[in-house]
Amino acid sequence: MTDQFQHTAYICVGSNIGDKLLNCQKGIAGLTGNGQCVLEQSPFYMTEPVDYEDQDWFINAVIKIGTALDPFQLLDLLKSVEKNAGRCSREKIRFGPRMLDLDIILYDNTVMNTDRLTIPHPRMHERRFVLQPLCDIDFSIIHPVFRREMQYLLNHLTPGEQKVVQYR
Ligand code: ADP
Ligand code: MG
Repeated sequence: MTDQFQHTAYICVGSNIGDKLLNCQKGIAGLTGNGQCVLEQSPFYMTEPVDYEDQDWFINAVIKIGTALDPFQLLDLLKSVEKNAGRCSREKIRFGPRMLDLDIILYDNTVMNTDRLTIPHPRMHERRFVLQPLCDIDFSIIHPVFRREMQYLLNHLTPGEQKVVQYR
C-alpha cells in the first residue's frame, strides 16, 4: 500500500430495502476515492435479519479499504455515502428511509469507545453476516479486544442460527 492510504479498515455494507445489490454496489463505489481505495471485497451474501426479525433479508458484504482518513472522518464519509447512495432518486424526504448501512468493523488495531464511534464494532463478534464475509477476506485477523482469530469467532457462533447464503 502506498503512503497515501496509511490505514486499513474493514467496512460492512448492507441493504434490505429496494434494489439491495445495487444499493450495496453504490455504497462500495462511494468509498473509492475521497481519501481511500478498496483493496478487497468479499462475496455478497443474503442474510437473515438478526435484531428485528420482522423485516426482509439483507444483502451484506465486507470490504477492506486503505484510507488516509482518521476513524471519525471515515465515519463522516460513511454517513454521507449512506445518504447519497442509499436513497431512491425519487425520494424527496430529507431524512427518508435509509437503504444502505455502512459500519466500521475494524480500523487498524484501534480499540476505541466514544459516544459516536466504537471500534471494533461492538456486535461484530456475534454476527455471522459480518464474520463470514470478513473471514472470506482474511480469517486470520485477530480481534483486538478478544484476542481471537476471526475464524475462531465464526466457528463459535451457534450452529444453524443466523442463516447466510452466498449470493454472488
Ligand atoms: P446501525 O447500528 O443499525 O448500524 P446506524 O447506522 O444508524 O445504525 O448507526 C447508528 C450510530 O452508530 C452512528 O450514527 C454512529 O455514530 C454509531 N456508531 C458507533 N460505532 C460505529 C461503528 N463502528 N461503525 C458505524 N457507526 C458506528
Ligand atoms: Mg450503521
